[in-house]
Amino acid sequence: MATTPSPAGGKKHADSLQPVWSRPVQFVKGIGPKRAQLLHELGIETAADLLLNLPRRYLDRSNIAQIGALLEGQTVTVVGKVAMTGVIKGGKTRFEATIVDGTGQLSLLWFAGWRFLQDSLKKGVILAVSGNVTYFHGFQILHPELEILEDWDADDLTHTGRVIPVYPSGETWRIARLESRNLRRVIKPLIDNAETTIKDYLPQAVRDTVAQPSLPWSVAHAHFPETADDAEKARVRLAFDEFFFLELTLANRRSAIDRLRDGRACPPTATWARTIVDSLPWPLTGAQKRVTSEITADLRSEHPMRRLLQGDVGSGKTVVAALAMAQWAEAGAQAALLVPTEILAEQHHHTLTRLFEPCGITPVLLTGSVSATERKSRQKLVASGEARIVVGTHALLSEGVDFHDLGMVVIDEQHRFGVAQRQKLVDKGRRPDLLIMTATPIPRTLAMTLYGDLDVSVLNEKPPQLGRVRTVWRGEEAREKMYDFIHDAGARGDLTYIVYPLVEQSEKSDLKAATEGYEALCARFPNRRVGLVHGRVKAAERLATMERFYHGDLDILVSTTVIEVGVDAPAARLMVIENAERFGLSQLHQLRGRIGRGPGESICVLMLGAEPSVIARERLEVMCRTNDGFEIAETDLRLRGPGEFLGTRQHGLPEFQIADLLRDSILVEPARKAAWEILKADPRLSAPDHQLLREEWLRRFSTRTELLEAG
Ligand code: ADP
Ligand code: MG
Repeated sequence: MATTPSPAGGKKHADSLQPVWSRPVQFVKGIGPKRAQLLHELGIETAADLLLNLPRRYLDRSNIAQIGALLEGQTVTVVGKVAMTGVIKGGKTRFEATIVDGTGQLSLLWFAGWRFLQDSLKKGVILAVSGNVTYFHGFQILHPELEILEDWDADDLTHTGRVIPVYPSGETWRIARLESRNLRRVIKPLIDNAETTIKDYLPQAVRDTVAQPSLPWSVAHAHFPETADDAEKARVRLAFDEFFFLELTLANRRSAIDRLRDGRACPPTATWARTIVDSLPWPLTGAQKRVTSEITADLRSEHPMRRLLQGDVGSGKTVVAALAMAQWAEAGAQAALLVPTEILAEQHHHTLTRLFEPCGITPVLLTGSVSATERKSRQKLVASGEARIVVGTHALLSEGVDFHDLGMVVIDEQHRFGVAQRQKLVDKGRRPDLLIMTATPIPRTLAMTLYGDLDVSVLNEKPPQLGRVRTVWRGEEAREKMYDFIHDAGARGDLTYIVYPLVEQSEKSDLKAATEGYEALCARFPNRRVGLVHGRVKAAERLATMERFYHGDLDILVSTTVIEVGVDAPAARLMVIENAERFGLSQLHQLRGRIGRGPGESICVLMLGAEPSVIARERLEVMCRTNDGFEIAETDLRLRGPGEFLGTRQHGLPEFQIADLLRDSILVEPARKAAWEILKADPRLSAPDHQLLREEWLRRFSTRTELLEAG
């Protein structure tokens, strides 16, 4: 991207404005070329990288136990002096070291892996050991975690005021002989004069307001704090910086897009959109109107739109997308809707066909299961521009699919697609407008880091005409009662979903559960039409079964989570989720979103296969209490952490070294604000005050160019 300052043009360290901080790690005292090579594997290139490799924990009085006060079963850290060591032969050969701290003695035992310890655990060495205390002729810890302390006051082991940093360990650190003890020796001199040798790269205004304390203070106190409080203050400042530089990158990416005024403004005619609205059997909700006008303003501007539409399941995103697509279609260009599954593609195609009928437009469907000849002819329609509205799955991304004039791309259920995939479709047009839709509400702080370069619209209101969903959880003892629910639903002519956990390649038992459940239901309800779909059923057959269900030709659909994504069967008013304790919260919410899509009350029964743990119970209770996707997402995020919450697939979450998205979420917004303001005032960071900042930004991201690419 031409507008990004190029790392290749970055200054050599000799010209650096920050010589100590940016010094290549090889030239840090105590490192040298061999260790530098190993550190390189850990992504540590400069003194700064070394300094931003913070201690994993600290040893101080507040977390060190006295041997005399140990209790069996405790997990503790003890500091003591080695009094005796030896290999004990016998039944099982072991190595034992005894340490004393003036209040008692503790023996440490190794049954394996002690050979390389033998040399360092000499009599008189001071150790910090951690582990679980057991009792056998005295207190002992088996295979303790171990730190050799070099400068602990040996005469006053338990009453020292020192705080000792303990660094992340691992194979590479060990090979480099940079275990905690040595690392402390390397780092100490680097921070001894930090206040004079390390300059704070953040502009004064940011330092005065949100980024306190200073960089040199924080670096010094993150490594050698006087109190745990200081260490935390220091960590928070450094975490802030991580968010800040990420936001700076996002802001840069965004402003690069905005500066490219070569997007196209969509002409301000909205006759078709009005026609569509007028033909709807219900009025738009307030939120749908608001979001539609936010989108319309983007379409009218010559900046390419980059907008995320967040709307809980059932908030009515499809019609909002259709109203945007209609405007480009009316202008003579094309709009494409990309969805993750065939079922969803067919359903959206069906919906859009109905919506666009009064405009005289026939949307074209492109999926993998369309026959080769049919596909050719549809691709022709797309290539000629005759197809103004195109709906499809991944098939849309393939080589042979060319658009005549792609004005807009809409991505539904965006968490199923990676950035690269969405870019593939965008690249089929000339800077088309992009609307990304997601039904997984993402808590605000997460959205700001994950989609920080996008504008965000939120559909925070559900159509009042849609039914309520009541959710309950039940144990195995209530199975008969659950069957009564199914019976009653059938008697009313309602459709029922029975959902089992996903059938994974290796998990035969899941498949068995779904299949057995299906057989049990068939036996139990001989007069009902029951269907079964799961991941091992062939795609075409799966599609056929699900379609029969949506058309009301089946009463009960037994499935695994393959039905998860946004399909719409208004007559489905009962859902039973088996082994509900095995699902994530957000996933349960998505599943539940399949019911309550028509008028009347729907019921969701969460069946538990096992007594729920405390956390599982909390999850289930949230599900029963609320239908608000945002509240559920916040809880899910809190209970599972960001990585799990987003799923490992392609979530694109930046990795933070110091910051923790959950713990430090309060820092995200101020970091974002500061970064965006700076870049707005000085897009190229060319002001003299911003030179240090610019240098640091390049230092941080020069090896991570993916962050500098345009989105
Ligand atoms: P989602 O946001 O989950 O994709 P959909 O767009 O599929 O939601 O809409 C869910 C259901 O609500 C559909 O049946 C749709 O026709 C209906 N719907 C959408 N907007 C309204 C509205 N304003 N009033 C009533 N029903 C609506
Ligand atoms: Mg949808």
